[in-house]
Amino acid sequence: MIATQKEKKELQVKKSAHGKGVFAKKNFKQDQTILQIKGKLVTCYEDDNLSEEDRSNTFRFDDEYFLSPKGMLGNYFNHACEPNSKVVKKDNKLFLVAIAPICKGEEIVFDYSTILASDDTWEMECHCDAKTCRGIVKQFRTLPKKLREKYLSLGMVPTHILEN
Ligand SMILES: [Zn+2]
Repeated sequence: MIATQKEKKELQVKKSAHGKGVFAKKNFKQDQTILQIKGKLVTCYEDDNLSEEDRSNTFRFDDEYFLSPKGMLGNYFNHACEPNSKVVKKDNKLFLVAIAPICKGEEIVFDYSTILASDDTWEMECHCDAKTCRGIVKQFRTLPKKLREKYLSLGMVPTHILEN
């Protein structure tokens, strides 16, 4: 797996309750950038040709492209219905940013629905242990209104997700 020295010092991929996950090796403050999600840009068509596992790890990048972080740290972040991080697009790059303080040893998770636009057909069953677990992860627009409003107010939904 490719990771920078800084990433290796601050983050760790290890076994979690749901396969592998990424864990903090230091404390992150709220609003602190955790890392840049790097990878290869693939089209919607290519995304459909990825294996189910690789596809489930892609990040919607814009109208046309998905970012596949295969072989890199970004590949290992799990979904949670009660996330502690968000995906932010800035300067044409994707970043993962803490939405709450994250303690050393804690798994870093985000809500996959925040990067599923209205034309994304991918869905996943969820078995996270949150009280608020939705059981299924799909398009942002399918979330309950209250949750959508909360996520929007926290800046958790990249604009290209809302536009598609
Ligand atoms: Zn869940």
